[in-house]
Order: sequence, then structure tokens, then C-alpha cells
Amino acid sequence: MLDMDELEHRFEVDIKVREEKQRLTGDVKQVLKAAGLIDEKGKLKLKGASPKMLKKMKQEFVDCPVIKTDIHFIQCFVCPNFQSRVMGKVLCKGSEL
Ligand code: SF4
Repeated sequence: MLDMDELEHRFEVDIKVREEKQRLTGDVKQVLKAAGLIDEKGKLKLKGASPKMLKKMKQEFVDCPVIKTDIHFIQCFVCPNFQSRVMGKVLCKGSEL
């Protein structure tokens, strides 16, 4: 178990869940592709994440304190400010993007 105080971060951002699956925009897809998280068929591929976890992740979003809008958890996951995910929260460095 990670201790939240051990990681340097400015924000602890709650991860929220929507009922419906959220679409990833083209921009986000490009970022994910560059990070190797999307395969040739456009399917999301996260190391160590089961299909069930991925399905759940697609419903998750955060109210980003830096961009000041709701964004997809997966987009947050590849953000340079993303540090870790601990107990339903994102530890965010909070630097300007
Ligand atoms: S890691 Fe990036 S996207 Fe996620 S909350 Fe922080 S600034 Fe926003």
C-alpha cells in the first residue's frame, strides 16, 4: 500500500464514475497511441489491466484542477502531472499544462 504523504503532489483528485462509456477524442487517442496504450485496431491496452478493469476505467473521469474541466481518467493517466492512483484518487503534481 502506498502512503499518500510519501509522494510529492499538489492535488488529490477524486475519481468519479459515469454510467455510460465516454468517448475518447481524436487528440487523446493520438496521445495514447504515442504512449503505446492503443493497439493498431484502436483498442485500449493497459499493462496489467484486465478487460473488466478497462471497462470500468472507461467510465471514470476526474474534475481536473489544472485544466478546470472534467476529463477522462485515461487522459489523466497519460498526463505529465499524473503521479499515481491511490484509493480512488489521482495524485496530481498540479503543474501548469
Ligand atoms: S494529472 Fe493531469 S489531467 Fe489529471 S488531474 Fe492532474 S493535471 Fe489534471
